[in-house]
Amino acid sequence: MAVPVEITVFGGTLRAQIPVPSAAVSAGQMLPMFHSIGDAVIHLSIKAVEREGKSISCRMGCAACCRQFVPISETEARELIDLVSKMPEPRRSQIRERFAAAVGKIDAGGLRDRLMNPESHPAERMRTVAIEYFGHRIDCPFLENEMCSVHPQRPLACREYLVTSPAENCSTLSDIDGVRVPNHASLALCRLDEKPTQTLVRTVPLAMIFEWAKTAPTEPAGRPGTEIMAEFLRYLGTGV
Ligand code: SF4
Repeated sequence: MAVPVEITVFGGTLRAQIPVPSAAVSAGQMLPMFHSIGDAVIHLSIKAVEREGKSISCRMGCAACCRQFVPISETEARELIDLVSKMPEPRRSQIRERFAAAVGKIDAGGLRDRLMNPESHPAERMRTVAIEYFGHRIDCPFLENEMCSVHPQRPLACREYLVTSPAENCSTLSDIDGVRVPNHASLALCRLDEKPTQTLVRTVPLAMIFEWAKTAPTEPAGRPGTEIMAEFLRYLGTGV
């Protein structure tokens, strides 16, 4: 059935009728719809920045942000694992080797537990951990020739990272003027995975998805797509 969507971002309004399955589906099966909505919110956020006379400085071939810590939802982690598992050989093994190399750097840097169990390190601010992570120059395993090799399926957090500051600032993590996205589809998606008792929005470090999978919770049972979409829009509308 068509679900009406209306989101206002910085004075611009997104209005659409999105076809959503009424049958039971997983959140992963609805990712293309969440991507479309997230992209529309980002588009409105960019328009707001442009009205201020600024322009986006992100360009193809600039991948400084692809060496930053990227937290993604459990739903996206499952889908990316599935994507890699369906890649033909030898590509699948190449990508798995890159994940192993990234995990090796994370372990060598002593970051594993702080990334995987942030709730066990309440005094440690994630911003501090992210700066430390960046210092280890850990390429995203999907980065190839300074470009994203899974661009159509890239996580929402990657889509939401846009800057108006010079590209070189992203290489040093200094004076970054990021586009403010008031309604984060990435976080709304993470909230879908939450248990009611959780106090922390759980995310999975992109480079650690295969480590996470070793002890990952079972995928939630399918629910009517309309129910999942209503929940996603509720979280998105509250600007989580
Ligand atoms: S998934 Fe793509 S856009 Fe995101 S960090 Fe990796 S290479 Fe960059």
